[in-house]
Amino acid sequence: MTRTWSALRLLAIGLTSVQFCSAQASIPWKIHDLQRPVPTVVDPGQPGQAPSDATVLFDGKDLSKWTGKDGGPATWTVDSDYFEVRPGSGLISTKEAFGDCQLHVEFAEPLPAVGESQERGNSGVFLMGLYEIQVLDSYQNRTYADGQASAVYGQYPPLVNASRPPGQWQAYDIVFHGPRFSGDGKLVSPARATILHNGVLVQDNVELTGPTANGVRPPYKPHAAKLPLSLQDHNNRVRYRNVWIRELDTAR
Ligand code: MG
Repeated sequence: MTRTWSALRLLAIGLTSVQFCSAQASIPWKIHDLQRPVPTVVDPGQPGQAPSDATVLFDGKDLSKWTGKDGGPATWTVDSDYFEVRPGSGLISTKEAFGDCQLHVEFAEPLPAVGESQERGNSGVFLMGLYEIQVLDSYQNRTYADGQASAVYGQYPPLVNASRPPGQWQAYDIVFHGPRFSGDGKLVSPARATILHNGVLVQDNVELTGPTANGVRPPYKPHAAKLPLSLQDHNNRVRYRNVWIRELDTAR
């Protein structure tokens, strides 16, 4: 009896080990392999500067990297080192298309604060033009949780509210992986986002349910691997500065 139980226990441990091993990531290099390529050197720059390998989307001077909603020049207001939403002019989009990326955006909410809920300092960072990371004045401004600042709009509230008061510069650091589609247009893997708001983790590798929208959660539709990034005109004079993006190559 005892021997039978021992055999069964060993079998169970063996099966568990097999399951555990099969779940382990496999690395195609020997440990500490000196032949393994070393990472490219990147100058991270000083605080407030873009890393040396980033594409700078706003350099403090002009919106030459952006277009307006009709494809013409972006007409948002540029002033000293920032640019500001010009209410009624529509969204602006990058001329270049991006997919998987690390994106840095700084923004400041209008001071004094005007309006309430979704009408206070609303704008948005639209990854691939489809997936909105909400920009809102969420400092002492109650709204629905999945629509406050740094929410994946309509899907995921931030883990915490790390908003600064209006008028102060804030930052989003976003790691985004676009969705993958098969050749026949089926979803292979959803988009994912990790976000720091003012250095605080607010979205931890969340899987998007599809494009973001107001009042609905539409399903994915197949699209290109790279699409322009957009900023939303929601009729509020939100300011932006120091916008840069790094395209991600996840192969290591
Ligand atoms: Mg918005």
